[in-house]
Amino acid sequence: MNWGFDSNSRPDVEKQDSELRLIPSWSVALSVVMFIAVQFLFHVDNGGPQHHGGPAPVRWLFSYSWGTALASYVLLIGYISRDVKRRNMSPGIWMLIALVMPGGIGAIVYFLLRQPVMTRCPSCRTELASGFHFCPQCQFQMAPVCGQCFRGVHITDAFCVQCGHDLTEDSMPARLRSFSD
Ligand SMILES: [Zn+2]
Ligand SMILES: [Zn+2]
Repeated sequence: MNWGFDSNSRPDVEKQDSELRLIPSWSVALSVVMFIAVQFLFHVDNGGPQHHGGPAPVRWLFSYSWGTALASYVLLIGYISRDVKRRNMSPGIWMLIALVMPGGIGAIVYFLLRQPVMTRCPSCRTELASGFHFCPQCQFQMAPVCGQCFRGVHITDAFCVQCGHDLTEDSMPARLRSFSD
């Protein structure tokens, strides 16, 4: 039985970090360009605010909301282009769906249908979904779990939030060992 749990695979810390880093720099740059382009279209290309359109506050509201919407859409596409690869899904098909379906519907469909993130067991290299607590092949502990109900717990928890079990009593030292590293 292998309860190994090394310090650089703490699931909580790693997850938030990589989600943010997943957005590629080209889509960040493109979203800024899109935002500025929308401001330009609303305020400059119209012959000046005195000639056309409604009062200035309304124009600012429209340009700001359209710019924000377009910029977030570009960020979303960038996120999907990376996210699709770590889920063993086909990048070509899903990028096409996200881009072609109007108003972000493709992106919503993507988030409803996407597969779980795939990782590898550090012990035996079996490919498995990241939500797993144990490796199905070698029983390597992928995430800290309660010793009584076997649901996921945080490394810093003293008691299980699901069943109230005293986690310090557990005969599995992995959780405590990784916390004291
Ligand atoms: Zn394994
Ligand atoms: Zn429990």
